[in-house]
Amino acid sequence: MKLPEEVTLNRAARTLTLRWSGTQTATLHCAALRAACPCAACRHARLTAGTVHVPQDVTLLDVQPVGHYGVQLAFSDGHARGIYPWPYLAQLGA
Ligand SMILES: [Zn+2]
Repeated sequence: MKLPEEVTLNRAARTLTLRWSGTQTATLHCAALRAACPCAACRHARLTAGTVHVPQDVTLLDVQPVGHYGVQLAFSDGHARGIYPWPYLAQLGA
């Protein structure tokens, strides 16, 4: 599985930048990450309502590694249930 070499949270820009290898980077906006939260509740919301309610100014408070699997993201709207596998983040940033 592809793992990023570096994960950088830019609080001012509200982005998360993943550096996959060398100079290959992907920058994801916190709001986009929040909207794509893979937890069961958000998956259910996307299936039923078609979307997840995301505050416009949402940002990330914390990024916790989950082994080699991915990261758990804690958002400023109090939502911190989403564990994002690396392949999912790679797909979001593609
Ligand atoms: Zn969620």
